[in-house]
Amino acid sequence: MEIINDNKCSWINDLSLRTNIKKLSSNINCEWLIVGAGYTGLSAARKLGQLHPNQKIIIVDAQLAGEGASSRNSGYLVDTTLNDGFTSNKDLENYKKKSDIYKLGIDTVKKFIKEYQVDCDWNECGKYFSSSKKEDQKILEKFSKTLSKLGFEHNLLFNKDLKKRLGTDFYNIALYTEGGILLHPGKLVRAMIDTLPDNVKLFENSSLLNWKRNSDIIDCKFKNGLIKTRKIIFAANGFLKSLGIKASYNFPITLTASMTRPLTDEEFKSIGEPREWGVLPVRPMGATVRLTKDRRILIRNTAEVHNPYEMSKSDLDKRSIKQKIGIKKRFPQLPDDIIQSTWSGIVSRTRNSSQIFEKIHNNVFVAGCYNGSGIGVGTLFGEQIAIKASNEHSKEIENIEARNKPTWLPPQPFLNLGVKARLIYERFRARSEI
Ligand SMILES: Cc1cc2nc3c(=O)[nH]c(=O)nc-3n(C[C@H](O)[C@H](O)[C@H](O)COP(=O)(O)OP(=O)(O)OC[C@H]3O[C@@H](n4cnc5c(N)ncnc54)[C@H](O)[C@@H]3O)c2cc1C
Repeated sequence: MEIINDNKCSWINDLSLRTNIKKLSSNINCEWLIVGAGYTGLSAARKLGQLHPNQKIIIVDAQLAGEGASSRNSGYLVDTTLNDGFTSNKDLENYKKKSDIYKLGIDTVKKFIKEYQVDCDWNECGKYFSSSKKEDQKILEKFSKTLSKLGFEHNLLFNKDLKKRLGTDFYNIALYTEGGILLHPGKLVRAMIDTLPDNVKLFENSSLLNWKRNSDIIDCKFKNGLIKTRKIIFAANGFLKSLGIKASYNFPITLTASMTRPLTDEEFKSIGEPREWGVLPVRPMGATVRLTKDRRILIRNTAEVHNPYEMSKSDLDKRSIKQKIGIKKRFPQLPDDIIQSTWSGIVSRTRNSSQIFEKIHNNVFVAGCYNGSGIGVGTLFGEQIAIKASNEHSKEIENIEARNKPTWLPPQPFLNLGVKARLIYERFRARSEI
């Protein structure tokens, strides 16, 4: 099945049009094939290119490289998370393992942007876990204890301070963490495409249709060609399940986001001219809201079970209305027609929010499923799965492999029914925060 994306994503539309796009049109033999050219696949390709300068490395994507979730996300490079799954972070040791991985992810992205001098609007401004509900103070105080035990700088803020910092009096309580970076997700992934090593060949608009292992060679079928490869890395994230990879451990979820045009001087004054900020919800289904450095407001307030291959225009329009309401709740003075674009993107989830990082056969590897932390963790996992697939070792791999492993999911239709019911319940609990 073909992936049909809307072409409305503001982050993608900010970038220059790419030229020299190659589609697979013949049969090829190679040493390495990577499926999926987002943060994970591109980072794996970069690392393989460095480790094996004389080997043939191919990376394919079903659409234009980087234009999946990697360009469509909200741009929070996180050091800590409060709502990263259907389970809460009760267990300190597990939370520490998770945040150690986040830290390694941030370090990997930092190293990449330093080495290649990447401008991706990097801003180490921290983030706010915010709520309009005063009773959510209890959740934040509990979270604060966890963060204190692990040495994360943070503080609780209340309505007046929040109004000054965010320009809205919608929020009554927030936990601000100093760690956490805001960036332009599209610029970051574009830099990963532009800096691919010379021995890596990229084929776009080339969807892997099926694959088969024949002793030590893997045959990969595309519409216009066959690739025979010695090793393969699956980095298709939300589409892993549809390729039959770890199908009993991951499932796709569709998120939708909207972005306004830049606020005028007058509108910006009306919200108190705050600096760039990023808010994450206290309740799992609440809204992510961000003010960018060029004064645009981004909101993401939907997460749902939907066909990952297509979101129709009328479906997208309905979600856009929800996002307009979300913006108006926070900034009633802004005009009704301020949203410039609305887009959807696919993330991959596991039952216990743990990521996938694995050798699934001798020559078949997979990395993915990061929920809302794929900028850092995807970049890290991409590099590290390339190292693992090259039979090498690293301290990072030890850290990654010490995490809790994803747990088994029930089969369909029970899975979809269960996830839908959970999402409805979480949406109800977060109804004031959407
Ligand atoms: C709206 C939204 C907001 C988000 N916010 C954040 C955030 O603030 N911070 C954060 O860290 N993360 C966030 N995420 C999650 C983050 O974007 C992902 O975790 C990350 O992009 C995963 O990167 P990836 O390279 O593994 O996958 P992707 O970027 O999804 O790339 C996978 C690629 O595989 C390709 N593919 C699929 N099937 C095939 C096939 N058969 N053949 C060839 N190619 C194929 C796809 O076309 C796609 O380009 C958000 C996601 C969304 C959608």
